Amino acid sequence: MLLFCPTCGNALRINEGTVGLHFACNTCPYIYNVPRKISKRSYLKLKELDDVLGGSAAWKNVDSTEERCPKCSHPYAYFMQIQTRSADEPMTTFYKCCNQQCGHNWRE
Ligand SMILES: [Zn+2]
Ligand SMILES: [Zn+2]
Repeated sequence: MLLFCPTCGNALRINEGTVGLHFACNTCPYIYNVPRKISKRSYLKLKELDDVLGGSAAWKNVDSTEERCPKCSHPYAYFMQIQTRSADEPMTTFYKCCNQQCGHNWRE
């Protein structure tokens, strides 16, 4: 990937700094910070996943299934399937108890 300086037209050189990659011009102070790349191979980290699952919005419009809540024994739970690691691995199924008072969520 070769970029040219919008100010003076010289080719930018790539620098790897502490905050990530950026392109810098040799002849003028122009610097272009490369937005952090979101690679196709990056999946939700489990911490982020917990945040997602903790929010009620994540559970809107999801299907429910006959799955007993381990906490309150409610017979139905909402479920979602999420790819957590790599595409080669099976999806992980997440459940959330249909009982409003409980709201327990767990993974398969
Ligand atoms: Zn320049
Ligand atoms: Zn429950």
